[in-house]
Amino acid sequence: MCGIVGYAGYGDAKTFLLSALHDLEYRGYDSAGIAAIKGNGITTIKRAGRVSALEETINGQFGQATTGIGHTRWATHGAPTDTNAHPHLSYDGKVAIAHNGIIENHGRLRAKLEADGIEFASDTDSEVVAHLIARHMQAGDSLLSATKKASRRLKGLSVILAISADEPDAVVGIRIGYAGSLMLGKSGDGWILASNAAAMPRDVNEVVHVDHCEAVRISPDDAMIVDVAGKLVEKEPVKLLPGSRISEINEHAHFMHKEISEQAAAVQGAMRGRVDFSDMRIDIPELDMLPAKLDRIVLAGMGTSHFAGMAGARRIERLARIPTSIEYAGELADRDPVMGERDLLVAVTQSGETYDTLVAIEKAKSVGSTVAVVTANVHSEASRIADVAVDIGSGVEVAVPATKTFINTMLVLYMIGLQLGRDAGRLSDAEFERHIESIVSLPGAINRTLGQEAEIEALARERFDGVTNMLILGRGDLYPVALEGALKMKETAYIHAEGCSASEMKHGINALVEPSTPTIALVPKNGELRTKMLTSIYEVQSRSGEVIAVAHEGDIEVEAIADGLIPIASEDEEHSPFLMTIPLQQLAYHTALARGIDPDRPRNLAKTVTVA
Ligand code: GLU
Repeated sequence: MCGIVGYAGYGDAKTFLLSALHDLEYRGYDSAGIAAIKGNGITTIKRAGRVSALEETINGQFGQATTGIGHTRWATHGAPTDTNAHPHLSYDGKVAIAHNGIIENHGRLRAKLEADGIEFASDTDSEVVAHLIARHMQAGDSLLSATKKASRRLKGLSVILAISADEPDAVVGIRIGYAGSLMLGKSGDGWILASNAAAMPRDVNEVVHVDHCEAVRISPDDAMIVDVAGKLVEKEPVKLLPGSRISEINEHAHFMHKEISEQAAAVQGAMRGRVDFSDMRIDIPELDMLPAKLDRIVLAGMGTSHFAGMAGARRIERLARIPTSIEYAGELADRDPVMGERDLLVAVTQSGETYDTLVAIEKAKSVGSTVAVVTANVHSEASRIADVAVDIGSGVEVAVPATKTFINTMLVLYMIGLQLGRDAGRLSDAEFERHIESIVSLPGAINRTLGQEAEIEALARERFDGVTNMLILGRGDLYPVALEGALKMKETAYIHAEGCSASEMKHGINALVEPSTPTIALVPKNGELRTKMLTSIYEVQSRSGEVIAVAHEGDIEVEAIADGLIPIASEDEEHSPFLMTIPLQQLAYHTALARGIDPDRPRNLAKTVTVA
């Protein structure tokens, strides 16, 4: 799950690696470290905590080093301490490695190396790699061949970068399976290897992906990729899209705040080039590659992507009239689903790197199903292995709690439903146009809803700061929003929040209702589900529960009933899932601040989950 980066060139390695680590930090922030070649040896500096802690301790210790590797860690084996931070040095001090992934047989390898007298400095699974490479180099192998030989001993999925004092201008990388990407880029003053595009210098416009079982060696003037047999691999570079870089935080205190605040622009990114407002058309050309006849659509994702997928599945089924379901990708991957050639898997993954979702994609492909991926990262592994990749158009999201990618994913899935429904003749012109009008007016409604931030901030400080448990109720299209809102409160503000279908209340959840457990109820504007939600509000209040309602503006009835009201700035019911998400995001953000939590980097988490 970590960020990994290597540099071999003519520039100052430490300066580049530090800035790249800042850009990669959202991928893992238990520790950060750099190893670089200085004089005849390797200097390694690593610190538990943030990249800024590492930066403070460097103090010119790398001199003018021009070759080095860096790492931000999300610990899987060993506590997040200075010694367990990467890079790890070999017993002879001549090799340093940074590792992303898990070495499943590390225990046995370690025991063997220890039996040979090698002392370990850390508790990590990764350190064995440094020692194995050093042993092969001592026996006469080059860094490239030693790394390849060492990697053959490893079980599990890994990406490794290595440097050696014996080859002071080279960095070697290797990828075994998929534990995050490894990409190669050329900048004005050298070559770069990195786990993702965010770490590439601004002048790198294209990259080459290193695939499973390939190794790569870079030096200031040269780069080569070889396969297992040692044969040179020639590959076409892929253009980097402008949105693949991390943007500036500007005036915002946190990326989460920035990403919530820019959602009107983000949804326009999803519509750009796809929605034609003048002649009322939606055209996502990638969908033309899908089979004409689909028996079933299965969506799969994890975390926020799962909930966005759930919202999308409901819309797709309603609009296209094709049986559509949603699953946790991890659960789909763990069983033997009955799927076939006329089924479509829509894999939802904002990073495009989520381990469970990649396994689900492979599973669907192995039974002949078509796979479309809906992602914020079209340079990702998921995009590369799927038949079709649809960009959600949000640009990179940095804060660990997903916000704009949730709304953009819901919108893109909504548009997919519209296009499939339209192509299958399931939607009348009038219905189709009504939906387009809803989409056109969405950015303005998002901006108006965002404008109530001061009220939500006060609510966070005054009501939610001291809360331990809370409920969020939704039904129909608002059920996934309730689930996502609860996830935001958990991961951002560390509050135990249950997102529930209000239909479930009487089946157990009612037992949790008490004065200290506030309930947020998401109330639709019209219809049977509104009536049912109003009943649920009364039922919670009858049991001494406090209810804060999120409802459409001007809803006097709800205002009269609920103990508090958060209005959303639209009359259009199609907007509800998008707009009701916003105050829940703001509430999570401001409650986190009130509780002294850094919302961009919640404890125990990382932005991309590339391990099982
Ligand atoms: N398994 C390694 C560790 O715990 C690497 C984790 C990562 O990918 O950051 O150090």
